[in-house]
Amino acid sequence: MEAVQDIRAAEAPGLRHRIVIVGGGAAGITVAAALKRHDAKLDVAIVEPSESHSYQPGWTLVGAGVFTRRQTEREERSLIPKGVTWIKAAVSAFDPDSNLVRMSDGRALGYDYLVACPGLKIDWDAIQGLKDTLGKNGVCSNYRADMAEYAWELVRSFQGGTALFTQPAMPIKCAGAPQKIMYMMGDHLRRAGRLGSSKLKFCLAGDALFGVPFFVPPLQRAVDDYGIDVCYRHDLIAIDGAAKAALFSVTDKDGVARDVEMRFDMIHVVPPQTGLDVVRESPLANAAGWIDVDSATLRHIRYANVFSLGDAASTTNAKTAAAVRLQSPIVVANLLAAMQDKPMPKTYDGYGSCPLTVALGKIVLAEFAYGGKVTPSFPLDPRVPRKSMWYLKTKFLPWLYWSHMLKGGTIDIRHRERGW
Ligand SMILES: Cc1cc2nc3c(=O)[nH]c(=O)nc-3n(C[C@H](O)[C@H](O)[C@H](O)COP(=O)(O)OP(=O)(O)OC[C@H]3O[C@@H](n4cnc5c(N)ncnc54)[C@H](O)[C@@H]3O)c2cc1C
Repeated sequence: MEAVQDIRAAEAPGLRHRIVIVGGGAAGITVAAALKRHDAKLDVAIVEPSESHSYQPGWTLVGAGVFTRRQTEREERSLIPKGVTWIKAAVSAFDPDSNLVRMSDGRALGYDYLVACPGLKIDWDAIQGLKDTLGKNGVCSNYRADMAEYAWELVRSFQGGTALFTQPAMPIKCAGAPQKIMYMMGDHLRRAGRLGSSKLKFCLAGDALFGVPFFVPPLQRAVDDYGIDVCYRHDLIAIDGAAKAALFSVTDKDGVARDVEMRFDMIHVVPPQTGLDVVRESPLANAAGWIDVDSATLRHIRYANVFSLGDAASTTNAKTAAAVRLQSPIVVANLLAAMQDKPMPKTYDGYGSCPLTVALGKIVLAEFAYGGKVTPSFPLDPRVPRKSMWYLKTKFLPWLYWSHMLKGGTIDIRHRERGW
């Protein structure tokens, strides 16, 4: 209760906008741009602390030496749509009962409608010893731009030995990313004549290569092709970089856990991922810590003037920029309808996509919706690794992101369920 009063007291006159968007990442910029395209007079503000914006799907390619880090980054300033107010601060509390957010600089900001899309927390602290050794001792991660650069340094200089790749429990951003680097490294080592002297191991907390069974066979073929050992139910809990040792909690089929240590020459780590603390501690969160929205309308379950999308939302789709591209028009249409007290006109089917780089130059484009429904955009068997999908990933999708999606564009690449 005191926190609420604090917020009200700190609300500066005039610090209020008709629509407040929290987070100026993929989702926030896209929604803001689309709202302004719809009506240039709309009063929209984005609260975003960072001065730079990353195209995170490109980090996989940085780790494989295909993109430079610079290619994945732009100044946030250059992306804020014309006429949108950028409040350069982090939100430190949500108070939806008072239609306010509190910011890290102590100010409070009022709104009529809120779009909450601050992304998720990559929990680097959840793995003991990781922070001390990340970026040295052969410990890298494509889940941070600078660490993706280090990943490429390790991949290209790898002279043989053991390379470990870890994957935590779901959900995570881009569920395929923990294994994409592994296949590209396998291909790189083969081309360099060093695959024979290398042992690649995929240690994952779950017990399936991919959440959508339809896409497991092509991934299993890639695993077999590179001679990768897959260690299911292996959850990374600690790492000692100097000793080149990783500790896993390994659960057997009866649910009994024991600790297993593995040695490595290189390790690619993907930490567990949760809702941000500011979300988890707010009335917006569901029991699991994600922003509690209706999976179809993306409107908050309890607060009718609040919408959410992207990595922060409770929806069970793949947490991807591809999902954001499809969610944004739904949020915009439904928000505009809410502003006129009209019923929600649009629903989201859970579409997300994961371009699985099974080799340098070859991609299995996994596209799927709620319930694991396979929903490709193209009339081609999506299980087949294709060069055309590599061009889609390396050329078309970055263009689509920077030049179309973030500008609030409406190109609709129709996906649909097809039988194979
Ligand atoms: C290695 C990797 C590979 C990926 N590969 C793919 C892929 O191949 N295809 C694909 O479609 N997707 C991929 N993704 C996932 C995709 O990038 C994300 O799903 C997408 O960026 C989510 O958008 P978002 O706006 O919800 O979150 P983000 O883009 O992460 O943006 C969240 C924003 O909120 C801001 N923020 C955080 N806290 C606060 C706060 N307290 N107050 C205000 N603002 C805050 C952040 O600074 C950030 O700008 C990948 C991601 C990674 C890491």
